[in-house]
Formats: sequence, structure tokens, C-alpha cells
Amino acid sequence: MSQATLMDGTGLARRIVEETAQQAADLTARTGVTPCLATVLVGEDPASVTYVRMKQNRSRKAGIVSRHVSLPAATTTAELIGTLTELSADPTVHGILLQHPMGHHIDERAAFEAIAPEKDVDGVTLASFSAMSFGLPGFSSCTPGGIMRLLDAYDVDPAGKRAVVVGRSAILGRPVGMLLLGRDATVTYCHSRTPAADLSSAVREADIVVAAVGRPRLVRGEDIKPGAVVVDAGYNAGNVGDVDFDGARERASLITPVPGGVGPMTIATLLSQTVEAAVRQTGA
Ligand code: NAP
Repeated sequence: MSQATLMDGTGLARRIVEETAQQAADLTARTGVTPCLATVLVGEDPASVTYVRMKQNRSRKAGIVSRHVSLPAATTTAELIGTLTELSADPTVHGILLQHPMGHHIDERAAFEAIAPEKDVDGVTLASFSAMSFGLPGFSSCTPGGIMRLLDAYDVDPAGKRAVVVGRSAILGRPVGMLLLGRDATVTYCHSRTPAADLSSAVREADIVVAAVGRPRLVRGEDIKPGAVVVDAGYNAGNVGDVDFDGARERASLITPVPGGVGPMTIATLLSQTVEAAVRQTGA
């Protein structure tokens, strides 16, 4: 079999950001309102500082105002909830991103729930998860939403397909499985308690494989069903994904590279959902 076609997340993300910038400019021209994304960071974890800075820079390039709130590491859950409640009530803020992980002393779930659902452009609240699960209007978790856009761009229709999602985190595995289910795939989840042999046999039967684990090359190339679509959300040291790329590429029909596959789609989804939130809140 010939090698799989690469799914170009970088190129698709660039097109989505260009469209988003145009929508932001149109909104501003029509109403005078400029979409605003508030980013909230607790502490100074270097990786989180870098991620937030990247999101702010990309926002500006897309015509989205960025407002940053930096809180000390010792911030309590109640103080953080206070900040998020204020931002939720502020009519000049359209989207809120709470960078995570946060310190262990913070009740992350309680903090996320302080974000108003209509401003939850990162898709982290229970309301957003329910909306995703039931196919109702709302915002997707950004990486799962980006994965679905990538599948759509390559005309992969999940309906009737067997999909396996490896990983069940609240921001990635669990919601992407729900989005695939909503598009009529037959979805199997694997996780840390799934025996390795069961993982292999689930992958061997899958038409669509989504890897979201954080373990280098956990999904073996030899297990990929010929012609399957392989989406690797994993990112491990040395630009290595959760799938054995070289082995999987020999068998798959489509595969995401790492980097340049899922990663760029996450931020593109965040920006497009922020402008969408501004459009909805402005009623324009
Ligand atoms: P996470 O919260 O650590 O969750 C990892 C999941 O993998 C858990 O559900 C865990 O199962 C499961 N798991 C662990 N070991 C396993 C094994 N041996 N077999 C099967 N499942 C196993 O990670 P995450 O936040 O979802 O991120 C996953 C990966 O995606 C990471 O590499 C991360 O860097 C990457 N990521 C990329 C983006 C992007 O924009 N591209 C965004 C977010 C994350 P349990 O639930 O049983 O513990």
C-alpha cells in the first residue's frame, strides 16, 4: 500500500485564522465592537506563560483584543472564581481562557464553572461538554473541535465508522469521543486501565484512530487497519506523537504529522470561537 496522505493542520489553521480575522474586521466595521479574549494565568509556570503569550500574539494578529490577568501562584480558588465572575459579567470581554493546569490547591472544576457558558471559548465548562455531547449550540473544547474540522476538511465522514479514542481526559479524549458519536461513529474509548492487548485489538478494527495520551508511540503502526484515518493529538519530547508515525504511515490512508497536524488546529479553533462568541453577544 502507498504511504498515507498527510493532514496539513498548519495550512488549514492558517486559512481558518484568515477567515476569523475577516469576520472580526467585519464585526468591528458593522458594530464598532472588537472581539476580546481574556486570558487568566495563575502562577508563573514557564510552559503556561509561553502558551498564554502565544495565544495573545495570535489573537492580536486575528484582530482580537487580548486582555491578560496574571494572578499570583498563591491565589485561592475563591479569589480565582471572583476574577472569572467579574470577567464573565464584563460586556467588553467576549471569551475567557483559564490556562491550566493550575496549582494543586485550586479546585479546577469550580474555577472552570465560574466562566459564563457564552464566554467559554475554550470549551471547559460542564455546559459546554453537555452541549458537545448532545449536539446543541455551544463551544467545543478546542483540540477536539479542531480535530473535527480537520476530519471535515479531508472529507472524512465519521458516520457508520468504527472510531477508537485512546485517552479520556476532560479536555481531549472524552469530548472528541462525544463529537465523533454525535457524527454517528461507533466509538470505543481506551484508557490507562485498558489492557494493552485490548488496546491493540480495538485499534486493529478502527477506521478512525484518535490518539490523546501523552505516551510516545503508544499506538503501534502494525495495529493500524489498512486505509484507516489516524489523528495523533499527542505531543511528547522530541516532536514525537502518541502513534508510531513511520509504521502507521505505511498502512493509513490519512495521518496527521506531529508537529503540524492537530496542534495548530487548537489555537485556530480558540480564535474562531472567540469571534463567534463576540458575534453572538453583540447580536450582530
Ligand atoms: P492527560 O490529561 O494526561 O490524559 C491522558 C489520557 O491517556 C488519560 O485518559 C489516561 O487514562 C490515558 N492513558 C494513559 N496511559 C495510557 C495507556 N498506557 N493506554 C491507554 N491510555 C492511557 O492528557 P491530555 O491533556 O488529554 O493530553 C494527551 C496528549 O495530547 C498529550 O501528549 C498532550 O501534550 C497532547 N495535547 C495536545 C494538544 C494540542 O493542541 N495538540 C492539546 C492538549 C493536549 P486515565 O484516564 O485512565 O488516566
